[in-house]
Amino acid sequence: MNVAAIIGRPNVGKSTLFNRLLRRRKAIVDIVSGVTRDRHYGESYWNGVKFFIIDTGGYTLYSNNIIEEEMRKQIFIAIKEANSIIFMVDVTTGLIDIDIEIAKILRKEHKKIILAVNKIDSTKNIYDATYFYKLGFDKYFCISSINGSGTGDLLDELLKTFPKGKDTQKNESLPSLPKLAIVGRPNVGKSTLINTLLMENRNIVTNIPGTTRDPININYNLFGFKCILIDTAGIRKKSKLFNSNIEFYAVIRTIKSIEDADVCLLMIDATRGWESTDTNIFNIIKNNNKGILIIINKWDLVEKKTDTNNLFKNIIKNKISNFKDVPIFFISSINKKGILPMMEAAMQLAENRKLKIKTSVLNKTLLPILQNTPPPSVKGKFIKIKYCTQLPTYTPQFVFFTNFPNYIKYSYKKFIENKMRIFFKLKGIPIGIHFRKK
Ligand code: GDP
Ligand code: GDP
Repeated sequence: MNVAAIIGRPNVGKSTLFNRLLRRRKAIVDIVSGVTRDRHYGESYWNGVKFFIIDTGGYTLYSNNIIEEEMRKQIFIAIKEANSIIFMVDVTTGLIDIDIEIAKILRKEHKKIILAVNKIDSTKNIYDATYFYKLGFDKYFCISSINGSGTGDLLDELLKTFPKGKDTQKNESLPSLPKLAIVGRPNVGKSTLINTLLMENRNIVTNIPGTTRDPININYNLFGFKCILIDTAGIRKKSKLFNSNIEFYAVIRTIKSIEDADVCLLMIDATRGWESTDTNIFNIIKNNNKGILIIINKWDLVEKKTDTNNLFKNIIKNKISNFKDVPIFFISSINKKGILPMMEAAMQLAENRKLKIKTSVLNKTLLPILQNTPPPSVKGKFIKIKYCTQLPTYTPQFVFFTNFPNYIKYSYKKFIENKMRIFFKLKGIPIGIHFRKK
């Protein structure tokens, strides 16, 4: 995943640039809204390349001490989270000590750094930018975050700093071992499950939220399951630096892990039930076309009556009404209960996701049904589906050829999807259904 951080002292214009990048280039990450109060991160696109952008600013500053501490935080965030850094300075104030300080710290890190001289709103002050050569970078970019000038060149340069070929398209051409990511809100029990799976105590599990976590890929080969486990929780180091920002990191890491995975195990805390963040995470997984398995952890803590499992399942299915065909498992990571069936299901999903259905089989199975229940006619026009085939994509996508592709409604698409789910092994796998004119 490409991640760029904008760093620089207060008031140079970081947030202004950040907002411009989000506004101009499509989708703000609303999927995670409600998680952090201020939006300090978002998805942006430039020339077809997707990247994450982090705004490290937005702090209120009172004294020099606080400035220093905030600067350190920002730099720390940038170094930990980003591949590339946009280091911003302000032409109207010129070069000041704190810029030099930041440059010094940054240069020690092995990150790609782009120097952006901001507030060059016209050619009038363009020559003032030359002072910033003193910072020792080979070149700089003159930009105006307010009117946008120069930002295109800056983004062209930014794309050059990202690893080649990544994120330009889904990097899934070489499937080997299935990649499973365990994701979920902080404290649901992800680390505990990883420990149980690994039969060791790698992470120090605490119930203090607010610890830093790095996603790690673990080459897993136990109990007959061979896969890569993506551990979102990761090794924890307690740090007072974050606190208020912890959810922010959790979110970025969760998205990173989801994008990397084939199958995501979305973990819910049975004692807390399904929360809105869970819906957000669920949708991120679905929109990324990853296999989904819901696991309800801490089942040991729930008082069970005869129908408790179904009750839970129904509540969840209601919350995920747009894609219900998802396996749900009840486990206790601490007591090591329910783990093996869950892993079997996860591995199965990785297989389902690779499903290729022969065109002849697809047509033989579906056409009689679709001809028997055709889409409702629109404006007196009879809609006929004549033929269907699977696209040669990595995840299951299907095209249906018809005389009036634009007249087919969402409800009919769902009808086809439901039929397909009955006949083919697609449980837990989001699929694409497209209509084309024959
Ligand atoms: P941050 O603290 O680095 O995030 O800075 P802000 O984005 O909040 O900007 C600080 C101030 O600089 C605001 O008053 C902005 O309107 C102003 N500003 C930001 N970019 C530009 C620019 O390109 N030109 C001018 N003239 N002002 C700018
Ligand atoms: P993470 O933030 O999702 O990685 O959550 P942790 O693995 O750190 O777990 C958070 C807390 O929940 C810890 O106190 C764990 O001991 C506890 N916990 C995790 N799994 C279970 C479980 O299955 N049953 C019970 N009773 N507690 C659990």
